[in-house]
Amino acid sequence: MRVALRRIALAVFAIALALVPILTPSTGEFWITQANYIGLYTLVVIGLVLLTGIAGLISFGQAAFVGMGAYTAAYLTLTYGISPWLTVWIGLVITGLAALVLGWITLRMSGHYLPLATIAWGLSLFYLLGNIDALGKYDGLLGIAPINFFGVALSTGRYFFYLVWIVVLIAAVAVTHLLDSRAGRALRAVKGGTTMAEAMGVNTFRVKVTAFVLAALLASVSGWLFAHFQRTVNPSPFGLEMGIEYLFMAVLGGVGYVWGALVGAGVVQILKDQLQVWLPRLMGTSGNYEIIVFGILLVLVLQYARDGLWAFVEGMLPRVRRKVDWADATPLSSRARPSHGEVVLDVRAARKEFGGLVAVNDVSFRVCAGEILGLIGPNGAGKSTTFNLVTGVLPVTRGEVVLLGRRIDSLPSREIARLGVSRTFQHVKMIAGMTVLENVALGAHLRGRHGVPAAMLRTDRAEERRLMREAEQQLQRIGMVELMHEQAGNLALGQQRLMEIARALAADPTLLLLDEPAAGLRLKEKEGLANVLRQLRAEGLSILLVEHDMDLVMGLVDRVVVMEFGTKLIEGTPEEVQASPAVRAAYLGTEH
Ligand code: ADP
Ligand code: MG
Repeated sequence: MRVALRRIALAVFAIALALVPILTPSTGEFWITQANYIGLYTLVVIGLVLLTGIAGLISFGQAAFVGMGAYTAAYLTLTYGISPWLTVWIGLVITGLAALVLGWITLRMSGHYLPLATIAWGLSLFYLLGNIDALGKYDGLLGIAPINFFGVALSTGRYFFYLVWIVVLIAAVAVTHLLDSRAGRALRAVKGGTTMAEAMGVNTFRVKVTAFVLAALLASVSGWLFAHFQRTVNPSPFGLEMGIEYLFMAVLGGVGYVWGALVGAGVVQILKDQLQVWLPRLMGTSGNYEIIVFGILLVLVLQYARDGLWAFVEGMLPRVRRKVDWADATPLSSRARPSHGEVVLDVRAARKEFGGLVAVNDVSFRVCAGEILGLIGPNGAGKSTTFNLVTGVLPVTRGEVVLLGRRIDSLPSREIARLGVSRTFQHVKMIAGMTVLENVALGAHLRGRHGVPAAMLRTDRAEERRLMREAEQQLQRIGMVELMHEQAGNLALGQQRLMEIARALAADPTLLLLDEPAAGLRLKEKEGLANVLRQLRAEGLSILLVEHDMDLVMGLVDRVVVMEFGTKLIEGTPEEVQASPAVRAAYLGTEH
């Protein structure tokens, strides 16, 4: 129902757009031109939404990709007379390859290095274009023919309007589809750090490169349109200044929202034009005063409306509530379980040193199929670090970690996930802006296979229904199904922990690692959790449990490993461990 409302809104908007060129009087040519520019910019900014708002990667260099698309189109039609309908694809290939190479190099950089690198290439391309003879240096290329559409030359703004806005609408809808898919969840998962996404089996580097290339491709299409709209290209619209302006449009409109791109591009374009007219009159002299106003505006937006203008619109729209249409979806295939008692995890003298600190000191233990092993010890004992060694988040300094007979200590986190290890985090890691259901579906990432193109074209829906069915079932199991449409960020901490367990279970693991799952849970919830874990054990799952609640641990686990200062103190049944004087002194004594 609510989804339908949005569809209707989109249809109304599309119809309104279609009427613009028809209803605008011939004196309004100026406004058609403005609308065309807004469309061109919107395309680029949609790419930035994907890149910056969704994947968390900041780029000042998008104008350079617009330039690649524009110059490719201009040069090829002017020099070889190639049809624009062909040059657009050539432009996409060239820009895509350039983005692939640039992304490959720069996306490994962390923190502020990426934006700095984007500034570097934004500047470089500008000077490169300005110094190549064949591209007309700073004068550029002139006399580009208009695009011909089945014999109709799109030479006037009104005809061109349709082409631009059809492309914009297609891009906006495709990206909206993308965000609501397996690939989209992976994209959103890389924003706040890569540890969680990798633990879900997402190749985060590839995801970042994908976002980067997609954004570049949208910019390239915009450049192609730009060249044929202006009928001339020169380096100035593709320099760093424009790169900054695109980012400004994204931030102003709302960098997290696809439709924010349109608002941002629209407001900036119209405001800029008006300010360019009025400010010099007010000041009495000519000058680019609008840049000052934009600077002030940007500071205000960042201070008071960080989510941008579209956030206000979004607040008024009905919330999208996923239609539950997956009841009859075929279940995802699950992996073969090892037979009861088989050694699943074998940690052999694993060691982790942080500088001079030995966080895990040659620790050995095993977890068998259908067993819950408790890992206890005071704060700082090295339990979470041990988890990180097993899951590949940290490399071992020495020692071996073996999963079902296979060494995994040199594998990346996502490969270990693929082999059937799933985990939760001591400090909850989730995508706060996504629903509980979507967060849990991220756990089943490795059980799906559809990527970006399928998501954009919506040929992934059958698989999506299977993923959603799995996510719902895991939420059901953990007793949270009634919260599935809730935003994850709105949950209480205990519920977020339970959600993480459901997410880990959605991966259909062989070995489940839980880091303090009961922290923040109420007594009833703890009992519920214990029952779920017993049930999982009965199903043949192996569980490694770090937990501070001794009653929970001792009443649940088969064996306990006690750590202190990185060293394994003792291993045994709960009774043996509780009877040990050493443990009482070191740990239980301080707890009780
Ligand atoms: P636990 O989970 O048992 O409370 P941790 O494994 O988190 O303990 O920490 C064990 C020790 O290693 C602590 O002294 C902690 O400060 C240190 N430590 C953990 N992670 C790091 C890190 N990334 N860099 C440096 N020291 C760390
Ligand atoms: Mg810990």
